[in-house]
Amino acid sequence: MSGWDIHMGKSIGIDLGTANTIVYVKGRGIVLREPSVVAVEARTRRVMAVGNEAKLMLGKTPGSITAMRPLKDGVIAEFDVTAAMLHHYYNKVAGPSIFSRPRVIICIPYGVTEVEKRAVQDVALEAGAQSVALIEEPIAAAIGSGLKVADARGSMIVDIGGGTTEVAVTSLGGIVLSSSLRSAGDELDNAIIAYMKRKHNVLIGEMTAEMLKKNIGSVIPMADRGNMVIRGRNLLNGLPATLAVTSGEIREAMSEQVSRIIDCIRTTLENTPPELSSDIYDNGIMLAGGGALLAGLDMLIQQLTGIRTTIAKNPLDCVAMGIGKVIDSVGELNGIVTFRTR
Ligand code: ADP
Ligand code: MG
Repeated sequence: MSGWDIHMGKSIGIDLGTANTIVYVKGRGIVLREPSVVAVEARTRRVMAVGNEAKLMLGKTPGSITAMRPLKDGVIAEFDVTAAMLHHYYNKVAGPSIFSRPRVIICIPYGVTEVEKRAVQDVALEAGAQSVALIEEPIAAAIGSGLKVADARGSMIVDIGGGTTEVAVTSLGGIVLSSSLRSAGDELDNAIIAYMKRKHNVLIGEMTAEMLKKNIGSVIPMADRGNMVIRGRNLLNGLPATLAVTSGEIREAMSEQVSRIIDCIRTTLENTPPELSSDIYDNGIMLAGGGALLAGLDMLIQQLTGIRTTIAKNPLDCVAMGIGKVIDSVGELNGIVTFRTR
């Protein structure tokens, strides 16, 4: 394709997620994993911190600084802040020289509007890319988790991220059908916050809720999930409170959101054409995204669908690894990406 030679200059792949941004550099692999969080000065919108540094500020900033997540439900909510974040990451991986403007392949959620798609291209250019190519996220996740997407065989990939759960059936390098649910990791955290409020009158922060989910949360009873003592604020007297939380409570808190995720998978299976659904029965369901690590989720999905369910090897890295494979072998995967240069 004219104007684009992926083998020239620095090619980088970006998984611009609601929760995390992962950067893959051609020939080097994944070089950066940071939360998609930016701290900005409220009045001037000046960027104060990006990524890990900014995440530590979430819920702890003084009035003059806001730590924000510029993506919401998989799409860009704050254009300038997203551009600033990407610019910071380009510099980190490619150096600040304009002679090293990267060629970027970036993913977009499947089924977003043309305007949202355009925003992702524009944001990548605005941040300093020399050229941008787009790839659909479920395809990247499927490639990254080792599925043979180019074959004439149906595969199901379920990507549970921060903002959305994306269920997709792929065949012959394309997406045959997909469903998206605005319930994923963040909603699980919110459900835990709401539960602690309702049951114990204690307000806990997002980071604490996420920690509970990761450390003692599970979707089915599991022996190795213990209890945890956390801190929050007592809503009755406004004072700091300590609370011993059991894994059973976290399971109960998350159960409604977990059901929604599994229902989404079941509905997609029901809508899958028969030839492809028999492939899925043979090949199983692949889980990707950070939510795939939720303890017991693979077993519960397998139990409720009757289909063998596997967690991808590095679920948080799947999309970026998939983009990386496309960068490293652009010839055979042509057609999966669309190109646009400055
Ligand atoms: P996105 O693609 O939207 O940026 P990710 O695929 O990076 O999202 O996944 C982030 C989500 O995964 C967060 O909600 C995070 O809390 C969740 N997550 C990460 N590790 C675990 C774990 N071990 N157990 C449960 N959830 C996890
Ligand atoms: Mg993702």
